[in-house]
Amino acid sequence: MIEDDSPERSAEILRLALPLMSKHAPGFQPVSYALWYQYAHGGNGALRTEVDEALRDEQRLSLSRTQVLYQRHLIDGAEQAFTRARAGLLDVLTSVQGSVDLAAGNTADFNDSLASFGDELAGCDRIEDMRAKTAAMAAQAGQVSESLRQLDGALAGSRGEIQQLTEALARMREEADTDALTGLRNRRGFDRELARLASEGNLLVARTSLLILDIDHFKRVNDTCGHLFGDRVLQGVARAVASMVKGRDLAARIGGEEFAVLLPETELAGALRVADQIRLGMAGIRIRRPAGEKPMDPVTVSVGVAQRLPSESLESWFERADKALYKAKNKGRNRVEKAD
Ligand code: GH3
Ligand code: MG
Ligand code: MG
Repeated sequence: MIEDDSPERSAEILRLALPLMSKHAPGFQPVSYALWYQYAHGGNGALRTEVDEALRDEQRLSLSRTQVLYQRHLIDGAEQAFTRARAGLLDVLTSVQGSVDLAAGNTADFNDSLASFGDELAGCDRIEDMRAKTAAMAAQAGQVSESLRQLDGALAGSRGEIQQLTEALARMREEADTDALTGLRNRRGFDRELARLASEGNLLVARTSLLILDIDHFKRVNDTCGHLFGDRVLQGVARAVASMVKGRDLAARIGGEEFAVLLPETELAGALRVADQIRLGMAGIRIRRPAGEKPMDPVTVSVGVAQRLPSESLESWFERADKALYKAKNKGRNRVEKAD
């Protein structure tokens, strides 16, 4: 919704939003911040109109009213887009159906006429009668071909529209499954892929391993270098992880500073090797610090590794990898541990 998100523009919007936030019951809660930031930004006309209407009812918006506005205008956007796309598809189908009905009606009539045409021809003994009959037949054939031409046009037009709508839906799904900061899959995308592989039986036949990886002392990075710098470290770690997995492997950011990697057809020994390569690869991450500031400390990660046991549930598999991760943390961090 916010297109121009340069720091200067955001700061200007924030200056406008702060006094607005302070006037209402939720004060500086995140939901209030999100709503008034968007209001001050001005890009969302529907939100502005409805907030203005709400303000005519009550000068000081309650928490619940704020939450409703937030839900409607900032959360339901994707859902609304989905509903619009679906309505568009139904419109297209209805209009094609109309053309199909017309063409079907004309062809059925034509079919009946063809059947009687033979008999009528046999009964004709004058050339004029025959000429008249043939002319009527030709006119009807013309009508059929015209309605088929219309149907063809309607189908061609709707094919384009359906294609566009399908692409829009695919983009929406892709966005919902992608982590905006790193471009990796997010937790939802990872879970969906996992569920898909499980339903196809791929996690059962092949030996598959799971890595769960957590950045060590990441809070310190934020505390000493700031949150924006922390975000850039997260991007660096994501790039390093992505560069070390390949083919059908699947990397995702499943939490704040937590990543997961799925390694199909990889037994524990191989997975431990990949995990250690990823761990060692962190040494290559360099994010520049402003001149005069002390350079960043090296980034390290701890990794838990679990190979899926036959017929083990996804939950138990994750839990074992998670426990292994905590073992790595407890043993001093910057290390890889395997699940029991
Ligand atoms: P440990 O070695 O035990 O994992 O310590 P830690 O500091 O990494 O772990 P902790 O769970 O205490 O802190 C995680 C930190 O990650 C806290 C939170 O501010 C930060 N974090 C989570 N998500 C983001 C994000 O999107 N951006 C930034 N910059 N920081 C984030
Ligand atoms: Mg963590
Ligand atoms: Mg951590």
